[in-house]
Parts: sequence; C-alpha cells; structure tokens
Amino acid sequence: MPEGDTIYRTARALQKALGGKVVSAFETGMAKLASVNDDAPLVGRTVERVEARGKWCLIFFSGDLILVSHMLMSGSWHLYRVGEKWWMPKSKMRVMIRVGELQASCEPMSHEARPIRLRSGQAGAPGFEAVLFNAQVAEFHTARSLERSSQVPKLGPDVLSEEFSVEAGVNAMRARMTSHPDEEVGVMLLNQRVMAGLGNVYKSEVAFAAAVNPFRRISTLTARELEVMAEKSQTWMRANVADGQQRGEAGEGIVTYTGPRRTTHAMDRSDRTWVYGRQGQECRRCGALVERRLQGTAARPTYWCPACQPWVAASGQSEAAPVGKAVKVGRRKIGC
Ligand SMILES: [Zn+2]
Repeated sequence: MPEGDTIYRTARALQKALGGKVVSAFETGMAKLASVNDDAPLVGRTVERVEARGKWCLIFFSGDLILVSHMLMSGSWHLYRVGEKWWMPKSKMRVMIRVGELQASCEPMSHEARPIRLRSGQAGAPGFEAVLFNAQVAEFHTARSLERSSQVPKLGPDVLSEEFSVEAGVNAMRARMTSHPDEEVGVMLLNQRVMAGLGNVYKSEVAFAAAVNPFRRISTLTARELEVMAEKSQTWMRANVADGQQRGEAGEGIVTYTGPRRTTHAMDRSDRTWVYGRQGQECRRCGALVERRLQGTAARPTYWCPACQPWVAASGQSEAAPVGKAVKVGRRKIGC
C-alpha cells in the first residue's frame, strides 16, 4: 500500500507536469466519472493544482471540479510523455488526463519507456499523460461536496486565506501537540492538515524566525513560539504572494530574506532565505554555519542554525541535539 509520502511525491510530480496546463483529452473506464465528464467535460479545463492529503490525491480543475483518488492496495498514478508506451495494459486504466499535445518536433518514443522522472526545465516540453491504474476509488467532487466528505481529510486553516488568524494557527498547532506530542516541529509545519499553505522552504524559514530547532518535539513548544510561527507563516506567505510570485506547489516559491538584495526570481533562492538552501554558509544573524538534515518519513531537507535555534529536549529525550551536515555545497539549482 502506498504510504503518505509516496502519494505526496506522486502529487508533486503530477503538479509539475500538469499544473497550470489545459486538459486536451480525458478518458475513463469508470462509469460515474464518465457521466460527469459527459455533462461537464474535462477537456478545456485548466489543472489548477494537485495535492496530497493523507493517502488521497486531489487534482483541482478550473470550474470547481476536483478529481479525488485513493490508491488503496494496488492503485498508482503514472506519468508519461504523450506517445510513450504505458507500463500497464489499457484494461487496467481507470483515468487518463492529457495536457498539451504531441509536437512534431518531439523525439520518437525510442528511449525511456518508463514513467517519467521529471527534471527541471521541462516546462516547455510537449504533452503529458497522467494515467491512474487499478484504483478502485476515484470520484469527482465540487469544493462543496469535498468539504462535506467525511473520508477525505480536511486541510488546516490556510495561512493565505482572509479568515486566517494567528489564533487559528496557534489553535491548530495546539491540537496537534495534544494528538501527536512526539512529532517534530518541521514535520508539523509541513502538515497541510495542521496549517495549510507552507511548503518545504517556508518550513525552515518559519522555524528560524521563531528560533525553534525544527527537530524539537512539538510538545516542547512554548506559547510564544507557537505564536511567532503562526504569525510568520501568514506574513511571509502573504508577502510572497504580493511579490507577484507563483505560489507554486504547496506554497513553495519564496521571498523571506529581505536584505538589501531583493532580487528577481531568476536568482538562486538561497540568496533570499535565512537558512533554506544555505547549508555550510554563515547564518545571517549570528555567523554560525547553517546545517542541513533530512526530516520525516518523506525525507525532506530541513535547514537550521544550531546557534539561533537551540535544542530543547523533551522529557526522556537525549540532551544531545540532532546534528546535520554543514558542508558548503556547490551552487546548484535547488529543487526539493
Ligand atoms: Zn544563527
């Protein structure tokens, strides 16, 4: 059975391939989906975003239509270039969503007859087909019916919504502290069911702002720390959107370090962050070396300053702080 992090990676890959693109073909072997498609065709709609919630994968289309799928034991989403041979027989296909078209200049499908591993810079590439095989649960929802669904997990308060308040964020985190006291701060910040909107970059930045070591257990968080994290989540995400940048997948796409060199988004992201992507570089606040360590079951990279974000052990936990790598890496594109 695919674990949550597998679904998460699937959603990210789908987002990269389909996000912002117009559906050019839709096929399904499921009667209920087909009838919705007959009444309100998928073709011509834009894929607004793809999201993982627990073991569910949600694809949001323009015009208030959401395809919700659950992988159960055997289901899986595959991603192919248009024209590429599928890995599974068409009889096992439940849903196929195509975006873009095959272009004449496209190379023949002689190589890489396997689900695509997305690389950066493929945005201009020809069409993709996202194919759902074997899933038993796939249904269309509207925002309203999704809200009413008791099966699909709800998101936490969205840091970008008008209704978001620091208090709502703090309350959501407090509830999590009660139900999952041993969870690490960085893992909680990424959990869209606690607060929705933060991506992997802001996770590190928000923890830095609150002077909280991201590997601490959430049971050790103080009221003040919760408040700062909720507040920074909101102000930075808003500033980021106001900056005219794409919100990107799960809120990634970033401006947090507002030093004298506010630069264009073509620049390396780490130029504008406090700690994210700055492994082995000096902390902008204290000069200590920023560390990096993979965190959580999804093994997402987390960055922090060991001096500004001291370790606080929970009761019974080792007093020794987790250690990360602080070796400066060569400049490269950050694609996490
Ligand atoms: Zn520091």
